[in-house]
Amino acid sequence: MTELYDLHCHSTASDGALSPTNLVQRAYQQGVTSLALTDHDTTAGLDEAQLCATEIGLKLITGIELSTNWQNMCFHIVGLGIDPTYAPLADATYTLQNTRMERAEKIAAKLEKKGIAGSLAAVTKAAGEGMVTRTHFSDFLKSKNHVSTQQEAFDRYLAKGKSAYVPTSWAELELVVSWITGSGGVAVLAHPLRYKLTANYLKRLLNTFKDAGGQGIEVITSRMNADEIRQAAEYATRFDLAGSMGSDFHNSDNPWVELGRLAPLPTNIKPIWELLN
Ligand code: AMP
Ligand code: MN
Ligand code: MN
Ligand code: MN
Repeated sequence: MTELYDLHCHSTASDGALSPTNLVQRAYQQGVTSLALTDHDTTAGLDEAQLCATEIGLKLITGIELSTNWQNMCFHIVGLGIDPTYAPLADATYTLQNTRMERAEKIAAKLEKKGIAGSLAAVTKAAGEGMVTRTHFSDFLKSKNHVSTQQEAFDRYLAKGKSAYVPTSWAELELVVSWITGSGGVAVLAHPLRYKLTANYLKRLLNTFKDAGGQGIEVITSRMNADEIRQAAEYATRFDLAGSMGSDFHNSDNPWVELGRLAPLPTNIKPIWELLN
């Protein structure tokens, strides 16, 4: 059997559309043999995902996608092979739930000022037990026809500098990496080219990340062209980081973002799964 890794995706525990069970089932149908569930700032979906994975014979890798601040910007660090019961990590996710709820209240207040009522009730209902994210706000804005696409919701209201943007103080990079590595996991810089950093800034970020104990970088994510893959692979090589691959699947809206629908990891890159036991 050919191994197919997808080490980045979301369930209803954060901003994904599918329950952990349905996500694992879909991954299996797409030919994924090893899946990491990496919800934003929470591990709440992992138990359910593991139950389903055991039943259908798919290897589940425990994961999380943690938000972090470095130099006043927000970055995402994926943790793979983590122990969700590790106290500093479990405490952090508990705190992050409050951080996210408080931010949601502030975003809703800003939308209210723009004449858009009812967002807080809608997003908390949509998130249920899961983490409230800006994706829930973009869904709400779209459903109420304030915007016609999710992207427009970010461009007009939710992105940095827009009218309903609320700056959030996420934990510093070193601390976030320590939650992952302290729990026995491997820290991976998520989607390195999506931050639109200058080469110089990205190099400084990667130096800081390495010094903090980061070991991996996503070389393959959805919708990357050959040149972007080459660039990401170059960063992996240059900073001696293992390469990860993951779709960042959230829902079935975009056929180009699908579980397991990924280019192969370049053969000269050390695969991150060799670091996972
Ligand atoms: P949050 O972690 O709550 O700030 O939400 C971040 C999530 O919003 C990301 O993981 C994406 O799923 C989504 N997101 C961020 N920027 C955009 C964008 N420009 N268009 C669509 N979704 C976005
Ligand atoms: Mn997301
Ligand atoms: Mn991300
Ligand atoms: Mn993600």
